[in-house]
Amino acid sequence: MTDALAPTGADIAAMPWIERLLAFDTTSRNSNLGLIETVRDHLRSAGVEPVLTHHASGAKANLFATLPAHDGSSTGGIVLSGHTDVVPVDGQAWSSDPFRASLRDGKLYARGACDMKGFIGTALSLLPAMQATRLAKPLHLALSFDEEVGCVGAPLMIIDLQARGVLPEGCIVGEPTGMRPVVAHKGINLYRCRVHGHAAHSALTPQGVNAIEYAARMICFIRDLADKHRAEGPYDPHFEVPFTTAQTGMVSGGIANNVVPALCEFSFQVRNLPTVNADQIIRQIQSHAQDVLLPRMRAEHPDAGIEFSRIAVAPALDDAQEGAITQLVRALTQDHDKRKASYGTEAGLFKAAGIPTVICGPGHIEQAHKADEFVALEQLRECESFLRRVIRSMAVAD
Ligand SMILES: [Zn+2]
Repeated sequence: MTDALAPTGADIAAMPWIERLLAFDTTSRNSNLGLIETVRDHLRSAGVEPVLTHHASGAKANLFATLPAHDGSSTGGIVLSGHTDVVPVDGQAWSSDPFRASLRDGKLYARGACDMKGFIGTALSLLPAMQATRLAKPLHLALSFDEEVGCVGAPLMIIDLQARGVLPEGCIVGEPTGMRPVVAHKGINLYRCRVHGHAAHSALTPQGVNAIEYAARMICFIRDLADKHRAEGPYDPHFEVPFTTAQTGMVSGGIANNVVPALCEFSFQVRNLPTVNADQIIRQIQSHAQDVLLPRMRAEHPDAGIEFSRIAVAPALDDAQEGAITQLVRALTQDHDKRKASYGTEAGLFKAAGIPTVICGPGHIEQAHKADEFVALEQLRECESFLRRVIRSMAVAD
């Protein structure tokens, strides 16, 4: 019905904001300060002073802004949350400049259009509506950095919220869900394993410890664990992949064909169902290294060692109990289905910090991360209408 307007999106009030956000190349490896400072300056000009929490390097920041309730209170209330970083476009064949919004066939194309600058831009464009509302409770905006590389930024912001006693009562993470509430997702646990062997000439292999061969044994053990979860569960049929998974993603080792490799390094991840304790799986992997492989390696040479380091952990979002925020989003979207996402988000972090969280945002995850990422204009319209209902639901009853 609204298709007459679809090609231009001229009816979408958020479009200037979304276009501005998309023009910043906030690929996770880059600084996001240009985007954050633009939003900060805009909020300031509207009389809102946001709090920035910086990465140790100073090159990246989270932004948290509070629109207080009509009585001036700034604790409690609802957070609208999104990450500012995007995945790389390296090696992808795009039909248009990925860092310039391009409107074609009722869709907005650009890196981050779907994941998740469409949501952030829509929320920012509603600042006047938020400020014109007599809010019963505060409304907060939370923009994070480095979500795509393992939810690195959001924990700093959450620590700051706790230190300042903000204690929001609910959070909506606007990751792409087709504007349907998603109540749970798996956890992501990303680790690096370094296997230290002992170098020797390859003609004298018994004098060395082959780091690649022991790393291969570790990798096979991780695969065996994954197979066990697949074969024996536990299962949750609400997930596309209904069991806990694990896999090795990257491996490197060795310096020459005729040298026993002294070092092999690999990264692996465990994606756990909310009901499965990921730390326990990590401990199983570490004990196999410690108790089974290391004694054999040390028998070959006392220098051998295996070390693990945690790269990133994003806890699962469980739906054990539905918070008031989930009920609100269900009521506003008229959607009561139980949906669980196969991807990780910052929602699990908010929930782990005691802030009930639900995921609901424009676009679909299949449209993100690849070449010609897009969000349908219809989804942006639905997002605006949804957020307007959220704001209205927070107004003081007359
Ligand atoms: Zn995302």
